[in-house]
Amino acid sequence: MPKLFVISGPSGVGKTTIVRAILPRIRELEFSVSCTTRPPRPDEQDGREYYFISPERFEELLREGAFLEHAWVYGHHYGTLRAEVERRLARGKSVLLDIDTQGARSVYLRRRELGFPVRFIFILPPSREELRRRLASRRSESPEEMERRLALAWRETEAGMWFDYLVVNRYLEEAIAWVAGLIRLELE
Ligand code: 5GP
Repeated sequence: MPKLFVISGPSGVGKTTIVRAILPRIRELEFSVSCTTRPPRPDEQDGREYYFISPERFEELLREGAFLEHAWVYGHHYGTLRAEVERRLARGKSVLLDIDTQGARSVYLRRRELGFPVRFIFILPPSREELRRRLASRRSESPEEMERRLALAWRETEAGMWFDYLVVNRYLEEAIAWVAGLIRLELE
């Protein structure tokens, strides 16, 4: 039976890198493209990483009940389209979500009404220092802002306690292998 896999973890932990690496390795697994109001980065394509939409359109979709979950992350809206997920499950594919910890929590609270099995995978940083290094390497911002984000991201590691699986991203290749391995086992 196809399943919904929710991958989450603190910002900067490397979940997007892990997701990108496992998708081509598991044929029966598809990525659910989320909506966001943040502008695309240079290497991103509309409809591939995200559907890049206006705040007005986001509001409209929210009012229509189009989202399975949604959250406000670092100043932008993000949401998982119910149709993206259900369309794939209906074709017999399993679905992968890469979402923040608030979004994961709201899927968790609603898991019994969804009508399909959901598994929660949490990615942890090996240490606070390593999380700081990773956050610093991908954003250029003031030291105060950096400390604020680090504090927030570190606090998010506590959200992992109720997940089905915890994976420490110490060595990227190992973390990828663990996540791919546990998804394969879940799909057997
Ligand atoms: P980024 O803007 O760097 O792509 O993503 C920022 C954060 O938003 C990441 O933690 C990512 O997992 C999360 N995110 C992406 N799509 C969604 C979504 O549909 N819902 C929620 N709740 N979070 C999302």
